[in-house]
Amino acid sequence: KIRVRYAPSPTGHLHIGNARTALFNYLFARHNKGTMVLRIEDTDQKRNVEGGSKSQMENLHWLGIDWDEGPDKGGDFGPYRQSERKDIYNKYIKQLIDEGKAYYSYKTEEELEAQREEQRAMGIAPHYTYEYEGMTADEIKQAQADAEAKGLKPVVRIHIPENRTYAWDDMVKGKVSFESDTIGGDFVIQKRDGMPTYNFAVVIDDHLMEITHVLRGDDHVANTPKQLVVYEALGWEPPKFGHMTLIINSETGKKLSKRDESVLQFIEQYRDLGYLPEAMFNFITLLGWSPVGESEIFSQRELIKSFDPKRLSKSPAAFDQKKLEWINNQYVKKADRDVLLDLALNNLQEAGLVGKEISPEKMEWVRQLVNIYAVQMSYTKQIVDITKIFFEEAPELSDAEIEEIKKDDARPVIEEFKKQLNAIPRFTAVQVMNAIQATRHETGVKGRKLFMPIRIAATRSMVGPGIGEAIELMGKEKVNKHIDLTLK
Ligand code: GLU
Repeated sequence: KIRVRYAPSPTGHLHIGNARTALFNYLFARHNKGTMVLRIEDTDQKRNVEGGSKSQMENLHWLGIDWDEGPDKGGDFGPYRQSERKDIYNKYIKQLIDEGKAYYSYKTEEELEAQREEQRAMGIAPHYTYEYEGMTADEIKQAQADAEAKGLKPVVRIHIPENRTYAWDDMVKGKVSFESDTIGGDFVIQKRDGMPTYNFAVVIDDHLMEITHVLRGDDHVANTPKQLVVYEALGWEPPKFGHMTLIINSETGKKLSKRDESVLQFIEQYRDLGYLPEAMFNFITLLGWSPVGESEIFSQRELIKSFDPKRLSKSPAAFDQKKLEWINNQYVKKADRDVLLDLALNNLQEAGLVGKEISPEKMEWVRQLVNIYAVQMSYTKQIVDITKIFFEEAPELSDAEIEEIKKDDARPVIEEFKKQLNAIPRFTAVQVMNAIQATRHETGVKGRKLFMPIRIAATRSMVGPGIGEAIELMGKEKVNKHIDLTLK
């Protein structure tokens, strides 16, 4: 039975790269009717941020990703927060020390840094060298007792066996191997504060939680040999590993880094802009995974059905915000109008264009506005810009617009339209179109020469949705004001 996990460190909001890891694990679990575990890796107390895990979980749920076991769900393999598993880690650390596979190391940060400095100066890769080299067991004991007497606090390091090759058959990359002398020397498994390191805790947890497949980001490849050292020391069978390709910024071709401000990288930011979760889910799936065939729009159900880790790509995935906009627009066009209304209303309220308290009539008005503009929106926050003409008081005309209304036929058309418009029985799109037809009849002007001056005079803009609908939505009073202003 397949068991996978998503193991975020609560260091901030849900990043697109982490969301991708969660999503592929989720698809893999659901496709195989396996189990998805959520584990919070919060042993690095300096990096934890308040509310980090809550925000991660909330954004995962928003995306449509759920899990079967986790800190909020419980399960047979808990606790699911590493900070609550200290006793478990300590037990294995003690075991390794007792077996002589791990040891207390008293080198201070300053000493280690000085050593690395020296190594760099000699042109060799910085690494830890065994501090008790050539000592007998008694001498080691003595050195450790001396260090304790000086008040030094130790870390625990694990011995890396010499002349070994650590290799695995990666689900994405194929064969990967590391020689033991390239791992950087005996590494720390327990920090001075008594917390295990990531590379140690992750092995204990993946083993005890019976994880069968570890699918994670490419940035962890260099950690995997360390983890294999721990598996070996404990005599455990490692899971299967898969390291998903890097994500690069399609604009710059560089690795997507959290500091790159040219693209939005946090799920929360897209939520705020009114992106739809189904569209995000769809888009993220295409980051480093390709379906069979040409289509790029898939429901979650279809993705679960067709997900095959063999189709995870080996080459970097390009993060293209334009493509995400396109995909979201595909979903916006099909979306339930009430869902769009909720999102767009929120965007309009946040922009201060619509009040927080809203009457039923105004609500109906916003609903119409959203309906008319839905097809044009990549995401609902765009409604704030594209519907500006409905919210501004007597907007200024652009040069191009002024030129249009200075054309020969324009003034008589606008004057006639004003007359016709005020004669219609109800101020509806259909009636407005009748008024335009009557204007055509009376003036003999047609086509663009008819519509453009009317549009500009009534809405103070040469662009917009269907003219009848635009005028209806703008309302009689405002349209008259606009016309008068234009004729002045
Ligand atoms: N906590 C690690 C991270 O956030 C998880 C790494 C792993 O999946 O092993 O990068």
